Amino acid sequence: MDYLKAQERVEELKRLIKENNEAYYVNDSPNITDFEYDEMFRELKRIEEEFPLLRTADSPTQKVGDKILTEFKEHTHKYRLYSLDNSNNYDDLRKWYERIKKEYPQEQEINLVVELKIDGLSCALTYENGILKIGATRGNGIVGEIITENIKSIKGIPQKLSKPLNIDIRGEVYMPVTSFERLNEENREKGLKEFANPRNAAAGSLRQLDSGITAQRDLHFFAYTLISEDKSLFSSHHEALDILKELGFNVNPNYSLVKGINPVIKKCEYWETERFNLDYATDGMVVKIDDIYKQNELGYTSRAPKWATAFKFPPEEVWTKLEDIEISVGKTGAVTPIAVLTPVQLAGTIVKRASLHNFDEIERLGINIGNEVLIKKAAEIIPKVIRKRENEDKGVFLAPGVCKFCGSNLVKPEGEAILYCPNTTNCPAQIKGRIIYWASKEAMDIDGVGESLVEKLYEAKLIEDFADLYKLTVQDLMKLDLIKEKSSDNIYNAIQSSKNPTMTRFLTALSIKLIGKETADLIANEFSDLESIMNADIDSLVKIDGIGDKAAKSIVEFFQSDYNRKILQKLKDYGVNPKGSSVVKESDIFAGKTFVITGTLSKPRQFFEEKIKKHGGKVSSSVSKKTSYVLLGENPGSKFDKASSLGVIILNERDFEKLLQGNE
Ligand code: NAD
Repeated sequence: MDYLKAQERVEELKRLIKENNEAYYVNDSPNITDFEYDEMFRELKRIEEEFPLLRTADSPTQKVGDKILTEFKEHTHKYRLYSLDNSNNYDDLRKWYERIKKEYPQEQEINLVVELKIDGLSCALTYENGILKIGATRGNGIVGEIITENIKSIKGIPQKLSKPLNIDIRGEVYMPVTSFERLNEENREKGLKEFANPRNAAAGSLRQLDSGITAQRDLHFFAYTLISEDKSLFSSHHEALDILKELGFNVNPNYSLVKGINPVIKKCEYWETERFNLDYATDGMVVKIDDIYKQNELGYTSRAPKWATAFKFPPEEVWTKLEDIEISVGKTGAVTPIAVLTPVQLAGTIVKRASLHNFDEIERLGINIGNEVLIKKAAEIIPKVIRKRENEDKGVFLAPGVCKFCGSNLVKPEGEAILYCPNTTNCPAQIKGRIIYWASKEAMDIDGVGESLVEKLYEAKLIEDFADLYKLTVQDLMKLDLIKEKSSDNIYNAIQSSKNPTMTRFLTALSIKLIGKETADLIANEFSDLESIMNADIDSLVKIDGIGDKAAKSIVEFFQSDYNRKILQKLKDYGVNPKGSSVVKESDIFAGKTFVITGTLSKPRQFFEEKIKKHGGKVSSSVSKKTSYVLLGENPGSKFDKASSLGVIILNERDFEKLLQGNE
């Protein structure tokens, strides 16, 4: 690139970055993805490095955020706030570490702390004699906005510390993903603006002139920096994090003190996929030199500390073209539209399809084939479509009137968003869906029986429903062209050895509308055998904690249907018998208590589940207000965050054993 071209591009990039800064920082409403923004930012940095004369003091690469133009009172920070330099590859991370190591040739490896980079907005808190005096946004790092009243309603920020200290705190205000989705749903219903992501929702909620509105929003805080004039308080970053916890701040538990860069990269790799199981957004990892003395020695650029850097995860969101909308009919007859996309790289995988949920969602998004759409990776394996490009109107894709697999007129039950094919007994898509699900890992877990085998068995008329799997002989299987599948013997044996499932697996595998593993578990806990479940009425089912009217009705209807009764009879005839509750009660210590288990424990989860049940307790797979305890192992997921926000009692294994011995 020649100098003139470079100058032109620099001006253009500066203008684009400035415009997008305004949309992001001032209006909390970005027009481009963070990845697109970061690409522009890196390009600008690259050109400025090549042509240093083009690097001016007003360049975004030389400052933090942007000037603020708001109605809040300005606040000049006592200690500056910085941004972070970042990279999106491990080579750059290694180079950063090597540069630092050169400064300390006498040390073999340097102590680093690697933390999650929380995607919220940074806040500065000032405490005097242990009392919260000022809460402010970062602004341009020198001057921020005073938002003290708004800060006071945030969970994880104490108004009074456990010690009368004069300190400053830096941390991130964020909104849990589930609360963000709820807020957007409410806004949608009220016809108000929806937020693009949890970060913008947190910023928009925090920067409210009416602190009453902020208090209604579910905002949380993770503290990550402690500043004190008293240099004897701590000498390392990890000690500072311990003090923050003692003082009553929420500190994100997923940080590690490590030696050298290799374990940092391992952590980055781990969280790159694991992040989708958290209930808050993280856009990367932050690596910090642990030693405060070294931090001070290394110092800062005009924009960021030299003693820290961020590794940004591959983008969670990307634009692509909606090439087609495919219709599938599932095991319960639900008609689901699926987006077929121009393949794109997203969070490390190539994505070709995305979920569209239902036709109400298509209408809400206002999309049609040909639109450019933003897709996002979420906890589920299949990503979802978030929105289309503004002002790109191609009409709205219409829901079909009939089932494309059996020709039945589709129906939409009152109060439901989902369209159904009502032909439960004859629609081939539904029947095959139920057989595939019956054999799946989540249900009966029959190794080797997957989509392609079921397709072949059904087309060859060897099976009409999932019960027929058990009448198959090795000879039947040998008739098929089993190229991709395992041998006939293995498949036969896998089917036969699945004849005594737990009641939970059996009920889950039946594909009863609205009944997943969790509800199946509640029913299995309550009844001792299949016969009593088949004869249960709505009243006795709704008495079970966690089962509502709709689920109860669906169970009763399922077992009343002649078609289903015939399949159940066949299963019985073929010797498929679910085991009743195998747990022999030992005590009632946990009577009326519901446990949720999360993270890795010293023994398999089943061990603890059985122990809880033996002593009269229940185990649930999701945290709610009704949860009595969360049994916590290592590397907990979003359940831990949810439990913390609901104030549920958290137990480690030792606490659990103590509780069992009656010492709370
Ligand atoms: P940044 O978000 O990349 O990194 C710095 C920030 O990380 C800190 O200020 C702090 O708030 C936060 N952080 C989170 N966890 C932390 C931890 N454990 N320790 C220390 N800090 C932690 O930088 P930035 O200057 O705040 O914002 C720039 C970024 O914002 C861009 O890279 C882009 O992703 C996004 N952005 C997007 C648009 C857009 O239009 N999409 C516009 C402007 C900015």
